[in-house]
Amino acid sequence: MRARFPDFRLGSVLATSFTGTLSERHGDAVERIPTPQRLVDWLAVNGLAVDSCTAAQLDLARELRESIHAAATAAANQDALPASAVHVINDRSAQGRAAAILTPEGKRQWRLSSASCVEDALGVIAADAISIIAGERDGKLALCASPTCQAAFFDTSQSRSRKWCDMNTCGNRQKKARFHANQRKKPRSAE
Ligand SMILES: [Zn+2]
Repeated sequence: MRARFPDFRLGSVLATSFTGTLSERHGDAVERIPTPQRLVDWLAVNGLAVDSCTAAQLDLARELRESIHAAATAAANQDALPASAVHVINDRSAQGRAAAILTPEGKRQWRLSSASCVEDALGVIAADAISIIAGERDGKLALCASPTCQAAFFDTSQSRSRKWCDMNTCGNRQKKARFHANQRKKPRSAE
């Protein structure tokens, strides 16, 4: 039987879905791509199918992920971008050789230079990160209000007032935490 790994949290923005493969960075961190095969699985559900991945390629992916996280966090805080993170993102973007393909149905697909080229897939993710960090897309980078998460996410809501990276996980967890805190504050006699 195949080992059970943490599920993926998929969002509509490629770069921040990717940074979400490590969640609860400020709490009990959950690594959602713990093995090369799990990166292969994640890329497949994100339209970047590769047929294999080496341990070294997984390392490159995680290095890119943490660089995007660092740069996006700085951008959300309107701080200077960390030079080392920018360097990694640019390297991955420059070394990817994926082509955007228009399907007959009018959808965009990515064509990698070869089926084993994880670097091409990482190039697409790096370019996506560049587009949101550079402010090229309609939306705003923000940080999740959950203290144990603080993930950078891309807020495309009309009011740009989203608080949590993911309503179903961080939003609900915060609501529950607040509920329990309120319960504790009530006097003992009320129990
Ligand atoms: Zn969150």
